[in-house]
Amino acid sequence: MAERQTKIDVKKLFAESPKTPVKLDITDLNNFVYDMSRCIKCKGCTWVDHIYMPGAQFRTKCPTATRYLYDSYGANGKMRIGIALAEGKLQWTDKLLEIIYADPLCGACDVGCKRNLDLEIGLTLEALRVKAVQDGVGPLPAHKKIAQNIEKQHNFFGSPHNNRTTWLSKAKLTPAQKADVLYFVGCSASYSNPEIAQATANILKAAGTDFMLMPDEWCCGNTVFSVGMIEEARALARRNVEEVKKTGAKTVLTSCAEGYRMWKVDYPKLLNCSTDDLGFKVVHLVEYVAEQIKEGKLKPTKSMNMRVAYHDSCSLSRLSEPWTPWEGERGWMGMVEPRLTRRRGTNGVYFQPRDILKSIPGLELVEMPRTRENAFCCGAGRGTKEAFPDLAQWSARHRLEEVKYVGAEALVSACPWCKNNFAQAVKEDGDAIEVLDISEVILASIATKG
Ligand code: SF4
Repeated sequence: MAERQTKIDVKKLFAESPKTPVKLDITDLNNFVYDMSRCIKCKGCTWVDHIYMPGAQFRTKCPTATRYLYDSYGANGKMRIGIALAEGKLQWTDKLLEIIYADPLCGACDVGCKRNLDLEIGLTLEALRVKAVQDGVGPLPAHKKIAQNIEKQHNFFGSPHNNRTTWLSKAKLTPAQKADVLYFVGCSASYSNPEIAQATANILKAAGTDFMLMPDEWCCGNTVFSVGMIEEARALARRNVEEVKKTGAKTVLTSCAEGYRMWKVDYPKLLNCSTDDLGFKVVHLVEYVAEQIKEGKLKPTKSMNMRVAYHDSCSLSRLSEPWTPWEGERGWMGMVEPRLTRRRGTNGVYFQPRDILKSIPGLELVEMPRTRENAFCCGAGRGTKEAFPDLAQWSARHRLEEVKYVGAEALVSACPWCKNNFAQAVKEDGDAIEVLDISEVILASIATKG
């Protein structure tokens, strides 16, 4: 009995155990051999956690494993592929590239795995794409075209750079020359979704918030970063952060979830600093508006009689937790020192968009079975829609089944990429579902000043 009560001195065991260095640097796939080799094929990366399991129809959260069924397309398969590549036992083929890139990197696998094992699955998937580029086989032709567009015209679409602020002419307002808040519009709202940029600018005006734009806004670099073109992405990160610093802005505000993630998480990752050390705060429109409503500066007074489902855009939710550089050692039982705060996706921007929608008179917010960190991705992001449009549309349709299941009349998201992908599927299928960006809903519900 006495023996069974003997205490284990964990600190001592850790101190005396052999150590290996640990880095979270995605420019070297070898940094993630531990994570890849410790995958136990439990598929927590594919399935919605049992305690939240909403039933057979909506049982999974990984778009690629659900769409293609083979394990190779799930995180568990990619971990094995990664080890074989790192050990030189597997050579790149077209099929292998397809498996690595047919994936919106939505982060569902990462937060699923960390419920159990604390493996860095999301970073490993990013490192796999960086390796594809380093080995001269990636990215895919569709991605290279976007990189060329950005190089030539500083935007995703290859549209004339001079047209970047055309959306302003219809917004009926002039941004300030200097202000504490800088609205980073992003390529999508600048060129393909001017309604989002115009709504955002008018909401800021209604709240009495002066805002400026970047004197010369360029693409945030989301696609080049996401497909593994790390040096191109780093150059954009460096340039954009420096440009913001020159303006003296205290807050960078985005209306795009992907841009938000780049500024808040991936710029610090690329520049090896903490989110807190950027020198300015990064907020999404929904965070700003939720605060303004709380302070009474914005009042949603106009009634909107609508049953609405809110879609958690991955980059605003489970992928949006701040970044802190970390290096350390791994020892006894895989424990690491110094303490590492894992990014588990539970602290994403979840309550603000819901609080906003609930504050609108007449609007009924309904939750879909898979929400927050378990939400099913729209399938468009991070290079997927450009190279695998069929996967992007399949994912959107699968998610829209949930909208129909809860009987919502409208699907609201907080990202232009989600809106466009869902809107395309709804249009092609003739579904009676309205697809809206939350900026449009907010603007419609508030009284605007003349
Ligand atoms: S949840 Fe993690 S350990 Fe389990 S199969 Fe997926 S990657 Fe492997």
